Amino acid sequence: MIGERGSDTPSARLEPSTWERAHERLIADLRDLIRLRTVNPPGDEILAARHVGSVLDDAGVPATVVEPFPSRGSVVARLHGDGTGGGPLLLFGHLDVVPAPGEWTHDPFGADVADGYVYGRGAVDMKNLVAMELGVVLLLAAEARAAGRDPASDPVPGLRRDILFAATADEEAGGRHGVRWIADEHPEWLRADAAINEVGGVSMELGGRRFYPIGVAEKGFLIYELTVHGIAGHGSMPRDDNAAVRAARIVERLAAPRPSRLTPVTERLFRAIAEAAPVLRAAIAGVTRGDGGVTADEADDPCDASVARVAAAITRDTVSPNVIHAGVKYNVIPGEAVVEVTEESMRHELRRMIGEELWAVTDVRLVVAGDPVEAPVDHGLYRTMADTLRDHDPEAVPVPAIVPFGTDAKTTGPLGVPTYGFSPLRLDPAERFLERFHGVDERVSLEALRFGLPVLYDVVRRYCD
Ligand SMILES: [Zn+2]
Repeated sequence: MIGERGSDTPSARLEPSTWERAHERLIADLRDLIRLRTVNPPGDEILAARHVGSVLDDAGVPATVVEPFPSRGSVVARLHGDGTGGGPLLLFGHLDVVPAPGEWTHDPFGADVADGYVYGRGAVDMKNLVAMELGVVLLLAAEARAAGRDPASDPVPGLRRDILFAATADEEAGGRHGVRWIADEHPEWLRADAAINEVGGVSMELGGRRFYPIGVAEKGFLIYELTVHGIAGHGSMPRDDNAAVRAARIVERLAAPRPSRLTPVTERLFRAIAEAAPVLRAAIAGVTRGDGGVTADEADDPCDASVARVAAAITRDTVSPNVIHAGVKYNVIPGEAVVEVTEESMRHELRRMIGEELWAVTDVRLVVAGDPVEAPVDHGLYRTMADTLRDHDPEAVPVPAIVPFGTDAKTTGPLGVPTYGFSPLRLDPAERFLERFHGVDERVSLEALRFGLPVLYDVVRRYCD
């Protein structure tokens, strides 16, 4: 795989033995991070923040570890450029992971290497990218030391911009104890001309072509709590105004499929896919047509079901009733029922779906809101990522993508930092990567990481040199 690098890439100037060592180091760092249990809740990210901080310190890069809330740690560091190339590039990611229920074939916190994969919670989301970003920082710091410079204060040879590194707590619960705290208290640790974050840059085989969706946008979301009122009474004499019965009607209405609504980013994405892979035109028409449905046939062929689900989610406003509770005892009719809804549209749309009759007996409370964010496709960092992918994989078709959920980009975007999802991995075509996020047997292949580290290094070098 190393031999596939174009000869005019910055990574080609480093010795093959340097890359071999950097790859081994990357795998070791990723495994160390997986073994540190940073399950959120409770988080305990301080374990990983201290670990990453000591790795950076050992490399001569002074790290700042913060713990603004007990056990919720984040770590930041800076590499210096000579300042002639503009504002910094931010490399960031989150240290926390979601819980790991289910029947795993490997201990989710054992970081086993088996069948060419590193197994464990966080292997995909997103200790892999944190380890790759750390790997790039370590390579650059080593280059500074080899040139007789002190990476704590001197510019890295060739670097014209500073590089900011941040690995933060609490992304899986909205970032209040991590990136949002940093944005409030130390925005200078995040302020940059552009940023690289999770979700994107991973190869996806569709219609015989190898696409690399680069994350440029995220949908917004609103979480509502609906309290449905009814009349309480004895369970032996059922009544129509039972709050649970009313809530069930509301849930059914909310779960109905929605029509598609394309944004400029999604239009551009589907146009690029259709151009590169004409065989997908019918499937794209199915996903984007008005009735909101994705049929089983369309989901099977040529896209798999998980791709079809993502496609359906990024082409429309979605509503998902996810928490429902009502009632206290089997023989008491509940007078109140609560439904929690994630809704990517607006309140009046909710009202339209529920209908006036039920709306009149429902209190609606907005619990959390996350604004949509978008970074420009017409940006030096985006072009650098797309060109570099093509240099490392001549078959690559980079496309700008929108993701149907929120990440810490919701915090860096409003700070004025264009934030791109880019954890470059070239996967085996059979890999079901989307199912690995928060899934059982989360794992990342060694070969994909071997591809990714020099790609990320080249993107950083080209954007900052
Ligand atoms: Zn993540």
